[in-house]
Amino acid sequence: MTRVLLVEDEERLVASLKDGLRTAQIEVVDTRTGREGLALARSQDFDLMILDIGLPDQEGFTVLRKLRASGSDLPVLILTARTSAEDTVRGLKSGADDYMPKPFSFDELLARIRLRSRKPLTEDPTTTVIEVGHCVLDPLNRTLEVDGEPVSLSNREFQLAHLLMSQAGRVVTRAEALEHVWGSAARANVLDVYIRYLRSRMGTHAIKTVRGEGYLFVG
Ligand code: CA
Repeated sequence: MTRVLLVEDEERLVASLKDGLRTAQIEVVDTRTGREGLALARSQDFDLMILDIGLPDQEGFTVLRKLRASGSDLPVLILTARTSAEDTVRGLKSGADDYMPKPFSFDELLARIRLRSRKPLTEDPTTTVIEVGHCVLDPLNRTLEVDGEPVSLSNREFQLAHLLMSQAGRVVTRAEALEHVWGSAARANVLDVYIRYLRSRMGTHAIKTVRGEGYLFVG
């Protein structure tokens, strides 16, 4: 499992990133300060560090310089609200491997994490065929079969089906599904439309509504 160190002080962003990354089967250890982030990076094993520039105790650039000075080659992806070219250059010169200006889409961040982290792609859970009940989902070929019959899905329908099926047996909250498929700008009612569509394809009882919580894929 890919293990990510998240050094970020914005509570809401931390909460949504942790949720999304865990859904993508990525283990997250998080801290709010540069000092603790540096200590964790030096004492534990990670595949990637996501580092905010505006931290309460010191700049992310400083954390990065200290990390590199101590000989660590841990891949580092910088997050920052600043979008000037000067900051990008400064980040890369300080030893960052990649750079994401805020706000960003979760899918893009995930793609970059997969690209930059040390874990080989063979361990990527997004390529594993998922079979639950009479539904078979193949992420690599982006196909869904129900009772052996191919079902065509749009990109978002596929992402939602993948999320629900990969978490089969566990309730996926509405917030989690919205954030995962549509990002933070989603309207809640769009999810109902997509769930209705998936039920029409996978069978009404394949996706259970858990009142006040979310959805449970039972196949
Ligand atoms: Ca910050």
